[in-house]
Amino acid sequence: MTDTLIEVDLTQAATDNENVHNRWHPDIPMACWVNPGDDFILETYDWTGGAIKNDDDASDVRDVDLSTVHYLSGPVGVKGAEPGDLLVVDLLDIGAKAESLWGFNGFFSKQNGGGFLTDYFPSAQKSIWDFEGMFTRSRHIPGVRFAGLIHPGLIGCLPDPKLLANWNAREQELIDSNPTRVPPLANPPFAATAHMGKLTGAAREAAAATGARTVPPREHGGNCDIKDLSRGSKIFFPVYVEGAGLSVGDLHFSQGDGEITFCGAIEMAGWVHMKVELIKGGMAKYGIKNPIFKPSPIVPTYNNFLIFEGISVDDAGRQHYLDVNLAYQQACLNAIEYLKKFGYSGAQGYSLLGSAPVQGHISGVVDIPNACATLWLPTDIFEFDINPSAAGPTRHLDGSIDMPIAYDK
Ligand code: ZN
Repeated sequence: MTDTLIEVDLTQAATDNENVHNRWHPDIPMACWVNPGDDFILETYDWTGGAIKNDDDASDVRDVDLSTVHYLSGPVGVKGAEPGDLLVVDLLDIGAKAESLWGFNGFFSKQNGGGFLTDYFPSAQKSIWDFEGMFTRSRHIPGVRFAGLIHPGLIGCLPDPKLLANWNAREQELIDSNPTRVPPLANPPFAATAHMGKLTGAAREAAAATGARTVPPREHGGNCDIKDLSRGSKIFFPVYVEGAGLSVGDLHFSQGDGEITFCGAIEMAGWVHMKVELIKGGMAKYGIKNPIFKPSPIVPTYNNFLIFEGISVDDAGRQHYLDVNLAYQQACLNAIEYLKKFGYSGAQGYSLLGSAPVQGHISGVVDIPNACATLWLPTDIFEFDINPSAAGPTRHLDGSIDMPIAYDK
């Protein structure tokens, strides 16, 4: 039988679990050790440690303390792993916790976190998704049902002291360029809510003061939020410290490319069954700076799309130069406008783009002055015909059901 090396109790605070941490720091002790070739299971909290509830009130999303995230299970030490190696991780399977067969999607208030379209949706809202085996649907967004593409939003190895110092320095430099911006440009270390696993005493205080926040993806992987890094994938991680120190969390039942809603995909508590191997000296052998991975042989076959184009011209009609970020925003906004014609609210459309197996593509980056990004909306997830026709759109929803909203106080 495969051992469950880290268990989480969803009735217990994540901060009471010493096999969980919410910062990156080389001094966080290994929660457990395994040998190359071992397979094992790690359970995880949802990324907020249970802050978001299965109810019809979005005030938890509005008021969430973002300095507390993400709660990660680990680090797992791998015997024999040394700096410069590659840690090979097979994601053998991933699932939701049996006592928690639901997930949440939402977007934060602009005043507390924001999101990709926060200027258009400045108030906190959420949608709850129930799992029916491999499928999901939401009572807050009628008319859609789809299969999950389950993946960890966040997985990676511990940084060494030099890499950690580099992260903190470059992110602080960015923050200093506009320190009062809302939402902020980046999140500096914050000791008050740091949870450093098994670390205690003065060593804990020192590490908490400099532990990197878990929000951005970095060279080690981390919070990449790649939907295709799903169960069945094989990932090759750079190793920076003795034992590698692999941690995982932020499990998603499903997510659209970009995780544009930020709170977040369809977020869930669950478990990951994985296997580890080593490639000695693999970083130099393969010229690896950031992780690489092979995708799963199993993906939902939603191959019929309606594809929305976006270019780097903003809503005021101003021309921007090859701005892919803006082009993707415009593609998303175009998709939301389209969905509204079928009776969805803008919030429901936004949430759907963050949750469903939506693809985002960088389609053109050389045709000056416009970048072109595309948003691929799978049409088979809808329980009605979403395609354009000469007869015009039929409103399938009457607006009586919408996503809970919580205005700023
Ligand atoms: Zn997430």
